[in-house]
Amino acid sequence: MSGYVGRFAPSPTGPLHAGSLVAALASWLDARAQGGRWLVRIEDVDTPRCAPGAAERILQQLQRCGLSPDEAPWVQSTRGAAYQQALDRLIAAGRAYPCGCTRRDIAQALQAAGRPRPRHGELVYPGTCRDGLHGRRARAWRLRVEAGVLAWEDRRLGAQRQDVAAEVGDFVLRRADGLWAYQIAVVVDDAAQGVTQVVRGADLADNTPRQILLQRALGLPTPGYLHTPLVLGANGEKLSKQNGAQPLDLGDPLAALCAAGHVLGIDVPGDDIAAWLAAATRQWQARWRTRPQAGYPAPL
Ligand code: GLU
Repeated sequence: MSGYVGRFAPSPTGPLHAGSLVAALASWLDARAQGGRWLVRIEDVDTPRCAPGAAERILQQLQRCGLSPDEAPWVQSTRGAAYQQALDRLIAAGRAYPCGCTRRDIAQALQAAGRPRPRHGELVYPGTCRDGLHGRRARAWRLRVEAGVLAWEDRRLGAQRQDVAAEVGDFVLRRADGLWAYQIAVVVDDAAQGVTQVVRGADLADNTPRQILLQRALGLPTPGYLHTPLVLGANGEKLSKQNGAQPLDLGDPLAALCAAGHVLGIDVPGDDIAAWLAAATRQWQARWRTRPQAGYPAPL
């Protein structure tokens, strides 16, 4: 076994569909191609969005596709104490602060400052509570983001940059409703599980700089990153339940794997799942050995 640890980290908002299988397969192939371990983590911190039974269904779908994790899956809803510890460390270091703003307060502050609403309706936090709550009640906790551009390298997308302070602002670690934010949960758990390579869908690429900042603030290592191509729905947006994604057909897992492989540029024959996965692993391996810059290059 190499020191490689990879993971697939689905949110149990519904069963796997063609898009989520691409990320699952890519992370599995990358781990297997490098003699590593492959973990599954159920990311159920956003409880209102979780669907009953979805976690079990996802694990069953993965298994039907021959993608079995090397350890029992971690479940984020059991990990609150670890996230709290991380938050406490950030507070003690002066890197996290309480925020009393509602969404409306943030929108009004931005408008008053003449700052336009950015795309996707994501509000850049204007820093209202950076220096204190102004007599208001603490609602959420935010990371104090330092100014400057963060540069990072994605194994498929290449060199990336983001000015997190300007494009996102001080982001939420613990939400006003008491739930943990994805950013802190993912960073704490990737480190706790010893993950060395994060392979996931390209829709998450622009979260990576936030996660790297958080890793640095907590003194945690930064893994390698590879963001896979997205499967698009009929409306041109990332395939999701909202735009008609059908749950994976458990009746024909090989067909589902072939379709996911196609998105990743994997095209191999195989009469059964085990043979197909073995051939796909060899193709993945050969690709990063022979085409390091074009074929999702070598890790580590
Ligand atoms: N739970 C996230 C999602 O399903 C993925 C997190 C990750 O891979 O970092 O969108």
